[in-house]
Amino acid sequence: MSDKLTTKIEFLKGVGPQKAELLNKELALFIFEDLLHHFPFRYEDRSQFYRIADLHDGLQLVQIKGKLQPFKQMGQKWSKRLISALKDDSGRIELVWFKGANWIKDKLVPGAEYVVFGKPTKFGSKLNIAHPEIELLTQRKENGGSQLVPVYPTTEKLRKKYLDSKGIIKLTHTLIHNLTETDITETLPSELRANYKLISRLEAYKNIHFPKDNKLLSYALFRLKFEELLYTQLRLLKLKSVRIEQYDGPIFKDTSLLTTFYNDHLPFELTNAQKKVIKEVYRDLCSGKQMNRLLQGDVGSGKTIVAFICMLLAIGHDAQAALIAPTEILAQQHYQGLKKFADALKLRVALLTGSTKAKERKLLLSYLRSGDIHILIGTHALLEERVKFKNLGLAVIDEQHRFGVAQRAKLWNKDQKILPHVLVMTATPIPRTLAMTLYGDLDVSVLDELPAGRKPIKTTHRFDSHRLKVFGFISEQIKLGRQVYVVYPLIEESDKMDYKDLMDGYESICRSFPGVPVSILHGRMKSEDKDFEMQRFVKNETKIMVATTVIEVGVNVPNATVMIIENAERFGLAQLHQLRGRVGRGAEQSYCILMSGVKLSKDGRTRLETLVRTNDGFEIADADLKLRGPGDIEGTQQSGLMDFKIADLAKDGQILSLAREAAKAILEEDETLQLPKYRNLNLELHKKSQGQVEWSRVS
Ligand code: ADP
Ligand code: MG
Repeated sequence: MSDKLTTKIEFLKGVGPQKAELLNKELALFIFEDLLHHFPFRYEDRSQFYRIADLHDGLQLVQIKGKLQPFKQMGQKWSKRLISALKDDSGRIELVWFKGANWIKDKLVPGAEYVVFGKPTKFGSKLNIAHPEIELLTQRKENGGSQLVPVYPTTEKLRKKYLDSKGIIKLTHTLIHNLTETDITETLPSELRANYKLISRLEAYKNIHFPKDNKLLSYALFRLKFEELLYTQLRLLKLKSVRIEQYDGPIFKDTSLLTTFYNDHLPFELTNAQKKVIKEVYRDLCSGKQMNRLLQGDVGSGKTIVAFICMLLAIGHDAQAALIAPTEILAQQHYQGLKKFADALKLRVALLTGSTKAKERKLLLSYLRSGDIHILIGTHALLEERVKFKNLGLAVIDEQHRFGVAQRAKLWNKDQKILPHVLVMTATPIPRTLAMTLYGDLDVSVLDELPAGRKPIKTTHRFDSHRLKVFGFISEQIKLGRQVYVVYPLIEESDKMDYKDLMDGYESICRSFPGVPVSILHGRMKSEDKDFEMQRFVKNETKIMVATTVIEVGVNVPNATVMIIENAERFGLAQLHQLRGRVGRGAEQSYCILMSGVKLSKDGRTRLETLVRTNDGFEIADADLKLRGPGDIEGTQQSGLMDFKIADLAKDGQILSLAREAAKAILEEDETLQLPKYRNLNLELHKKSQGQVEWSRVS
C-alpha cells in the first residue's frame, strides 16, 4: 500500500480537522484507506428520465430534465417560499424551496437546462417537487456521466455538517480521482485474474464507488468479494496445513476393543454413513497427527454411538476419552446411554457437572488422574483447571455451536505433551458456506443418512383456535402408548410473562388430561428436580412433558412421537428444527404441531411454512441464513469470522466456493507464498491477519 492510503483523513481536500473528528467518531474513518473501504450500500439509477407529463404523486424518486423557469418569491413568514418550474416538451412541474432561497437564486440560472431529482407530491390540485436535487445538464456530462449514483451510509450528526451521502460522494470522488496503480497495487497474479475473470484492483475500487454501468459494478463487486473471501480461505487452509504438519497426535491403531463391542454388544446395525465416518476417524487416529474433525449430522442421525466407538479406539490404547455436552440434561443422558455399553465392556464412565457434590468430585478427579476412569462425560465443568486426566486421548464435543471459541480452546490446553484428538459434533446443520468458513480448517465428516426404518416427521401448523382438536390428537396418541412434548418459548430466563405462559399451559394441560401424569421442566428448577422429571419421562412414567427449550438439544426419548410447539412463530428456524428433532427417533410415525396466533409477521410465516414444507436440515439452515443473515447464526458472533466488509455469506456462497478452490490451488503451487507473483498477495494477507484473534484454533 502506498503512503497515500495511510494518510490521515483530515488531509483529504474538503475535510479538515473538524470534519475529520466527526468522521472518526461517527464512521470510524481515520485514514484514506478507510474511506476507500466505506462502500455504498446501494445505487440510484439515474439513467432513466421521466417525461414531465407522465409524473404523478404515486411515484417515488424520479429524474427529469428540462429548462429552468424564472423564480418567484411567494407567501409571508411561515409560508414564505421560492418557486420555479422545470419545463420539457411534454409539460412543466413546479419546484419549491422553503429554505435557502437566496442561495438557490444565486446558484441556479433560469433558462439553462437542468437535471432534477426528487419526489413528485400533490399540493392542492398541482404537482410539485420540494427541495429537489438539481444539477446543470452540462455538469452531469462532465462528471463522467455516471448514472449509477452511490448512496453511502452516514449519520445524523454527519448530515448536519453537510456530510450526507452527497457530501461523502464528494470526498470519495476526490480520493478515487487521485489514486493510481501504485496506490492500489494489484494483489492477484494475472493468470488467476484471467481464470476467474477478475478486473484489476484499481478498476474494482473505482467502479464500486462510481460504477460506469451495471456490468462494471457487478465485476467490481465480484472482484472485491472474491478477494476478501480468498484471504479468509488462505488463512484457514494455511492453518490447517500447519496443524497437520506440526501437531502430533497419539496413534490409536488397535481395533480389538472396537471389534468386541461391534460383534457382541452393538444393539443395531450401523448405517453406511456411520461406518464411513468411523473409518474416516480411524484413519486420522492412525496418522500420527492430531485429528481435528467436525462431524455434522442432522438430528437423529446417530452421532453418539459413532463417538462412543471412536472412544474405544483410544481406550484400547490405555488412553482416556472425554465427552462434553452443552447442558446438564444432555450430559446426564449421554452418561446413561453410554454407561450401558461401557458396563458391558467393563469400562468405567463418570459424570462431572456443575452439580456434582464436592466429595464425589474429589474422588472422581483422583480416579481421573490415576487413569481409573476411562470415559469422562460432563458439561463445561470439564474445562476447569483442576480437571486433570492421566492421559486424554480423545475429546468429543457434542453440539459444539453452544460453546464459545475460547471454551473450546481450553480443552486443548490440558498440558499434555501430545495433544488429544478432537471430534466436534454438531446437529445444527450449518449451511455449506458457513461451514467452509467457520470450520474451514477442520476436516469434515457428514452423517447424511438416518437409521433405517425412520418415518419422516409430519409437520403441521395450527392456529390457537384449533387447540381442542390438537388436544384430541394428543389424547389419541397417549392411548396408543406414546408420549408428548409441549414446548413454550422462553427467550429470557428472567422473563416473567414467559414463565406465566408456561405455568398456565402446564395447568391447562393437567386439567385437560385428568389422570395423565405430566412432567414439567424449565431452567429455574434445581438440577436434581430437572433430572428427576426428565427421568420420569424417559422411563415412560409421565406421558406429557411440558418444557421450555431446555429440551431443545439432544434429548433422546424414542417413545415420544408428538412435539407441540407453542407460539412457534417466536422461535428461530434452526431452533424449531432442533425441537422437532426430539421426536421421530423411534420406529413409530411422529408429528410436530406448530401452534400460533392468527397474526403473524412475514418472517414468522415464512419460518413456519419452511418447517412444514421440509425435514431437510440443510435446506432449513439455508433458509435460516437467508432470513437472518450470518451474524445471527449461533456461535458465529464471537468467531470474528463474520466481519466481512463486502462479502455476504448468505448470498455469496458461489463466490466463496470459487475463492476456496482458488486458495487451494495457490497453496498447492506455493505453500509459503514465496513466488514473486504472490508477493503482494502475501503482504496483504499478513496485513489482514494482524490483530486478528486466533479464531481458527477452534479445537
Ligand atoms: P443425534 O445424531 O441427534 O445425536 P443420537 O445419537 O441421539 O442422534 O441417536 C438417535 C437415536 O438413534 C438413538 O436412540 C440411537 O440409539 C439410535 N441409533 C443410532 N444409530 C442407529 C442405527 N444405526 N440404527 C438404529 N438406531 C440407531
Ligand atoms: Mg446428539
